[in-house]
Amino acid sequence: MKDHAPNSWEARAEAHSLYGFTDLPSVRERGTVVLTHGEGPYVVDTNGKRYLDANAGLWNMIAGFDHKGLAEAAKAQYDRFPGYHAFFGRMSDQTVALSEKLVEVSPFPRGKVFYTNSGSEANDTMVKMLWFLNRAEDRPQARKILTRWNGYHGVTVVSASMTGKPYNSVFGLPLEGFLHLGCPHYWRYGAEGETEAEFTARLAQELEDVIAREGADTIAGFFAEPVMGAGGVIPPSAGYFQAIQPILKKHGIPLIADEVICGFGRTGNTWGCQTYDFVPDAIISSKALTAGYFPMGAVILGPELTDRLQAAIDPIEEFPHGFTASGHPVGCAVALKAIDVVMNEGLMDMVRAGAPRMEAGLREIAKHPNIGELRGIGYMWALEAVKNREGKVPFDGKLSVSERIANTCTDHGLICRPLGQSIVLCPPFTLTDAQMDEMFEKLDAALRKVFAEVG
Ligand code: PLP
Repeated sequence: MKDHAPNSWEARAEAHSLYGFTDLPSVRERGTVVLTHGEGPYVVDTNGKRYLDANAGLWNMIAGFDHKGLAEAAKAQYDRFPGYHAFFGRMSDQTVALSEKLVEVSPFPRGKVFYTNSGSEANDTMVKMLWFLNRAEDRPQARKILTRWNGYHGVTVVSASMTGKPYNSVFGLPLEGFLHLGCPHYWRYGAEGETEAEFTARLAQELEDVIAREGADTIAGFFAEPVMGAGGVIPPSAGYFQAIQPILKKHGIPLIADEVICGFGRTGNTWGCQTYDFVPDAIISSKALTAGYFPMGAVILGPELTDRLQAAIDPIEEFPHGFTASGHPVGCAVALKAIDVVMNEGLMDMVRAGAPRMEAGLREIAKHPNIGELRGIGYMWALEAVKNREGKVPFDGKLSVSERIANTCTDHGLICRPLGQSIVLCPPFTLTDAQMDEMFEKLDAALRKVFAEVG
């Protein structure tokens, strides 16, 4: 147990705060890091130590931690109109402007937007919309939701049920009717001798089989991240979306792109679905939507779902759903500024320009024999640690290799995230070349140290 001075920030944190998604033995040994502020892509703790945050918070702080324009947009809106809802036929002018903008930058020729406070709530909202319109269309049995193993969609009861992670069993989740299909990670799940095209075809066949088994008329939707993020940065196997979308279309099952991580530039395009060349039926957005400067999520419906939802609303003249802070004017003003920063002030161009450099630097590091795979795109990458590269043999879980690497990085002032046996890097888009080199150097040193200990 790490000792802290009585009444220090660390001791106070440990006395009164609950920790989400935290390895508590690690905190007991190493102590809590309490942060006071940020400078560009760095965060600073109560002892004045600086950390290059190669996770951009939780993928969301794409403009770094001290973007003046975003803070000023929030301040100006707080001064003008600090809060409102979107109920009873009233909403703020900023909400109107953001919906217009989101439809304009979406891949849809037309559509409509509904706001939430988080990505989890946006997924829940989308599921409720599908259940609502299926009931109105006299198909109340069409409730099942298809997602994939390793997919991450959030933590509320419904979005946790969608998430394909075994840890949700501690809550007695998933709920009935949430089905998980195969993860499109060829390197890990491709069978011996199977080509990538054959692997993709196998996943498409699995989808056909599940639809046949369950009955297409019982399924409400298929949700997928274009690149799985919290599953360990897993880009889809080649041709994956091109293989599954026609099957979903044939059976009338909407494809919902969960763009909470990919949306607004992380893959080098506005949307991950553009990078992987498909147009979904709706988009779930959050995180970079406000560059992390305000909690907000959004459901963006494409034309068909917009019309079906409207037709379902008409007979009862109401969509009985919404949050107190749905369409919060400050969130909307910040999102409008964030979209401008990403699309017009060059933030997305920085990802496009920096991605080859990021990949090249990580490829050098990935030459280490204990790295089995480097995978990613744009500014989202993962290095997977293995005991044996040839056989893709993982390290014994008890060694906590990725946690040790991440902890060593933290000691040296670099924040990166252990996910399974992978180390994930998803920095702010504003990273300079020198900061990227700092990330490479610190990561490489930590990998070498830990692999020398466990290798
Ligand atoms: N969907 C994806 C793809 C995510 O990565 C996340 C969070 O990481 C969520 C949904 C949930 O978002 P939130 O944490 O804002 O509820």
